Amino acid sequence: MGKSAVLWFRKGLRLHDNLALLEACKDATHVYPVFIIDPHFVGPGKVGVNRYRFLLECLTDLDTSLKTKYNSRLIVLRGNPLDVMRSLLKDKQPFAVDKLCYEFDSEPYARSRDAEVTKIAKEGGVEVTVSPGHTLFDLDEILKKFKGTPPLSYGPFVKMVESIGPPQTDKDAPAAIPAPPAAVLGKVDESYSVPTLQEMGCEETPHNGVLRGGETVGLQRLHDVTRNEKWIATFEKPKTKPTDFNPASTTQMSPYMKFGCVSARKFYHHLLAIYKRHKGHSQPPVSLLGQLYWREFFYTVGYATNNYDRMAGNKICRQIAWVNNEEWIEAWQQGKTGYPWIDAAMRQLRREGWMHHLARHAVACFLTRGDLFCSWEVGAKTFDELLIDADWSINNGNWMWLSCSCFFYQFFRIYHPSTFAKKYDPTGAYVRRYVPELRHMPDKYVYEPWKAPKAVQEEAKCIIGQDYPEPIVDHAEASQECKDRMKAAYDEHKAIKRAPKSEMKPDPD
Ligand code: FAD
Repeated sequence: MGKSAVLWFRKGLRLHDNLALLEACKDATHVYPVFIIDPHFVGPGKVGVNRYRFLLECLTDLDTSLKTKYNSRLIVLRGNPLDVMRSLLKDKQPFAVDKLCYEFDSEPYARSRDAEVTKIAKEGGVEVTVSPGHTLFDLDEILKKFKGTPPLSYGPFVKMVESIGPPQTDKDAPAAIPAPPAAVLGKVDESYSVPTLQEMGCEETPHNGVLRGGETVGLQRLHDVTRNEKWIATFEKPKTKPTDFNPASTTQMSPYMKFGCVSARKFYHHLLAIYKRHKGHSQPPVSLLGQLYWREFFYTVGYATNNYDRMAGNKICRQIAWVNNEEWIEAWQQGKTGYPWIDAAMRQLRREGWMHHLARHAVACFLTRGDLFCSWEVGAKTFDELLIDADWSINNGNWMWLSCSCFFYQFFRIYHPSTFAKKYDPTGAYVRRYVPELRHMPDKYVYEPWKAPKAVQEEAKCIIGQDYPEPIVDHAEASQECKDRMKAAYDEHKAIKRAPKSEMKPDPD
């Protein structure tokens, strides 16, 4: 007799190159495609509306594909995954299964949840299979190559990864997915459907961005961006413009990679096929393949590091006495620092859930070691709420990088919060789009409106301090103070490293 298998979607929200799905289909008479709405991720300050909307679009797309191509459907269950799995795997409610299949997830919350679920499955006599698929390579395999401790710099990492050889070729979606029995499909009604935004505690606001969720749109975007082979072959990340919008200057594949709507291996092999046709193409770290390796790099270090998402107890993170200024943090989060480039980027983030890599650099530097000297953890948490592509491994890693807490240590190199963007966008089109108060400000003052004479401010219908804030700090003074504090923190770090073991401060935590 055949088996009934559950495919538990978490990330990996796709049907192509889904090894867990292929595993579920093996010898199965029925496959139940399941997603669980976990209250852990629902609630104020946890996930912004743009990401929820994107997730629901992904689920709707999966449901539609399963219905139209496979005569099946997505079954959305609600509740703490441990409770949901207990009733499914032990009490056989709302249906009975023999096998549970899911894709490996390296984040700490997922790992402890999955370990508990595996125990529950064993108690219920249900077989469990875990497949790789979210990253190019199996992270355990990479870690083994580094004897458990990956390097904190990219060069040696890439060298080792390239020595493994190319990742497996991506697989097509299955030709058939055995549907759940008709009796069960009849039983699973509206309450097992994809939720609305309202059910997720969000207001039904209009769609603000260009990024719509789902495997179908994600594959289409991959197809569209890779059609221009010359662009792909010559792509160099530092040369892309952070102020470009409509279209952005990079692929904007990140939300699809975050949710696994598009497989990393598929992206990789698309690039490789193009590179084969274009000799002399760009190379890591700046090439597009180099970007996929950055992703792999942060996933590997995140997987290997305890307390990776905080400073305390995090062995790779410099201990720095950040300050907590709630007023400044609020101004930064709301895009009201008085620095138009910083504010435009933070407002793009809030409005659309995405911003260019160098915009992320600029706002992260400004919040931490550049101007405000507030903790990178605050920044990472804000991004974690507002980015559609918010990704635990990549986000925390990049925040440590930008704050010179790990990976990058040249704290004296600070992004200027007004002149940096000017070279990309001298007329301030990006600022005018996201900070409409400055729409009529002459080009000369659009990045530094507080320098505009009163008559110019009046003419532009934007009085600084009234219609748009004065800068919350003086950059020249603030950045010097930040450098002094960073130097002190680095000197202390050196002193601790030099000190005999008995004098070393114990690790916090
Ligand atoms: P492209 O340049 O087109 O790159 C293609 C893909 O490569 C991306 O979709 C992404 O999957 C990967 N990639 C690109 N840059 C990086 C990078 N620096 N590190 C790791 N992977 C990369 N990226 C996230 O996906 N999620 C995050 O939560 C996130 N937080 C960040 C926080 C800070 C402070 C900074 C400075 C960067 C962060 N990034 C994050 C990395 C990077 O900014 C985004 O991946 C990138 O801007 C996404 O746009 P894209 O898809 O057009 O990138």
